[in-house]
Amino acid sequence: MKELVRHIMVDFTQMKSFSDDPLIWAEGDGIWLTDVDGNRYIDGLSGTFCLSLGHNNKKLIQAGSRQLARLAMATPTMGTSDQALKLVELILKILPPDYTTMKLLSGGSEAVEGAIKMARQYHRQSGVPTKYKVLSHYRGFHGATGFAVSATGWPLWKVPYEPFPTGFVHLPTPDSYRPLFGGDTLDEIGERYAKWVEEVIELEGPSTIAAFITEPILMSAGTVVPPTSYLRRIREICDKYDIVLIFDEIITGFGRVGAMFAAELLDVWPDILVVGKGISGGYTGLSAVILKDKFAQTFWGEPEDNVHFYSGHTYGGNPVACAIGIATIEQMLDGRIAANARDRGEQARARLRLLQSKLPSIGDVRGLGLLVGIEFVRDPATRERFPADMNIGIKVREEARKRGLLVRASHWMAVLAPPLTTTEAEMDDILDRFEGALSHVLEPAGARAGVAAART
Ligand code: PLP
Repeated sequence: MKELVRHIMVDFTQMKSFSDDPLIWAEGDGIWLTDVDGNRYIDGLSGTFCLSLGHNNKKLIQAGSRQLARLAMATPTMGTSDQALKLVELILKILPPDYTTMKLLSGGSEAVEGAIKMARQYHRQSGVPTKYKVLSHYRGFHGATGFAVSATGWPLWKVPYEPFPTGFVHLPTPDSYRPLFGGDTLDEIGERYAKWVEEVIELEGPSTIAAFITEPILMSAGTVVPPTSYLRRIREICDKYDIVLIFDEIITGFGRVGAMFAAELLDVWPDILVVGKGISGGYTGLSAVILKDKFAQTFWGEPEDNVHFYSGHTYGGNPVACAIGIATIEQMLDGRIAANARDRGEQARARLRLLQSKLPSIGDVRGLGLLVGIEFVRDPATRERFPADMNIGIKVREEARKRGLLVRASHWMAVLAPPLTTTEAEMDDILDRFEGALSHVLEPAGARAGVAAART
């Protein structure tokens, strides 16, 4: 089977190095994955931040199998299904009442595309067709398709595919570990970033700006938790300038951050909420764009009014996906899974913070719920990063893998995001393995950096 690996492209990964040392999984159970050779790994990343209820969850499997036998396809160009309607009812019930309308889709990027299109169409149908620009953050990630990648803010994922459409304006990442505009308190740091946003809006021309899209916690930006003051001000600014605020909760939604939605935790609600990944427990492709009534109303009219949403995807709101979505959310309704995500995240951050005194190259430990990020620094005092070619994070990821733990990493960060059902003992196990990998890489790297720093 391994000879076939050279014929497959996996995401964001060089084919040659992948085929030299491939991960080929065969089975999963709880937090565990087993590869075709029988090696076991802890899925420290929940698939890609989606497998919230763990592998081999019997209720999800039964819900999917039952629905496969009942009805596997209901074309969204002509109708919907009982499962889609049940899912919509369930989700709208857990949201504040001003959310009234959902567009079901099958992947995160599709949903981001939909949200951006809806924001533009909303303005056009409300008599302000000049509003088309989309604000987003540098270092954010919103998906791999046209508008979604245009809103994304990392050159790595964009430069090979440039040029992109005009009208996408990027703002500084609201990062409080490296505050670009300074500030003594978190509130002040947030206010200063928000001031810049308002300045950009004024300079771009408020009558040209349709939407502001952000993840409430910016995972790809480095698990950045923006100061609450920032998101509160962004909400006010969007209201002031009639800009549709879109939260991309594709990672943060459905319990990941220790509450059903990050918006709930931060008490800042967007006009359009975009969800994916955890909505189906990661068992199948499902996503949604959820609109507040004021925005949904502009799409309501007679056929000749031509105000409907001119877009859709074949597998959007597929009945099997919706049945799995219902079974996922039903398991989360009593709040225990989100509470566990909060507690396990705190357990991880507390232990990693203790480790900082032994391994000062762990510059920052952050995140919310079971999104746990650590940032590596060459010098904790100045927060200077290690040179990119030292690949510190990548080495940590490789060492973790040798110890049977899969984590996310870039050269300056590593992220843990195991299933929300992870137990306290399992988290201890994860942290033992992670600590082993961190010590192995950071002790010598930190020592070398110390020597280099003393010489310069
Ligand atoms: N938005 C965020 C924040 C994501 O992390 C991702 C994927 O990782 C997407 C959008 C795109 O979702 P998908 O890969 O399902 O298209």
